[in-house]
Amino acid sequence: MNIKNNIRKIIESLPPGCHLIAVSKTQPLARIREAYDAGQRAFGENKVQELVEKSGELPRDIEWHMVGHLQRNKIKNIVGFVHLIHSVDSIRLLEEINRQGEKIARVVPCLLQIHIAREETKFGFDEEEVVDLMHMAEWSKWQFVSIRGLMGMATFTDDLSIVRGEFKKLKKLFDTLSKIPLPGQVTMSELSMGMSSDYLVAAEEGSTLVRIGTSIFGERNA
Ligand SMILES: *Cc1c(COP(=O)(O)O)cnc(C)c1O
Repeated sequence: MNIKNNIRKIIESLPPGCHLIAVSKTQPLARIREAYDAGQRAFGENKVQELVEKSGELPRDIEWHMVGHLQRNKIKNIVGFVHLIHSVDSIRLLEEINRQGEKIARVVPCLLQIHIAREETKFGFDEEEVVDLMHMAEWSKWQFVSIRGLMGMATFTDDLSIVRGEFKKLKKLFDTLSKIPLPGQVTMSELSMGMSSDYLVAAEEGSTLVRIGTSIFGERNA
């Protein structure tokens, strides 16, 4: 695995406006440094503890993205420095991020995770729920979150036509929300979709942030 070459090839394959987040979960510091030395600055983790530990050991100019399911009692550990939380999947989580942001007077950048996959188990808002969310009165209280867009994970399948359909659906929702009046804390600027197996499809369908682990670092040892 040549991490530097992998990163270069992926970036070359992305259209303008689509950016790479290197998902470094389970990877040791040495491999993350290799990616850093190749110029990569945006890294994603899916566990709070791992994110906190790694951020303490690695250069300060790394942008840390939280891409995995986030438990409310762990928000406080990352709220002060996380670059973007991709996985806001409930109103209770949103409220708690706001509460923790308020405590330290930091407006926390977030994406709303949308449930687009066929699997029942994937987290996220349904399309209707997120439209309803935009009309809630509570936004006047949520001054310490900044919603920058949407995130979604496609069904885990080799059938890329299913995956493409789900990404199209998410892009359509993104475009719909872009056209309606939104609370002041919400913009539709980023659309986080695409992983190693499907990022080219995601990029074609309008992704602005692809989250890639395996195609950079190789298979993870579970
Ligand atoms: C692990 C993970 C990725 C990256 O997956 P790969 O298939 O290794 O590219 C992307 N997004 C999330 C939410 C993840 O947990």
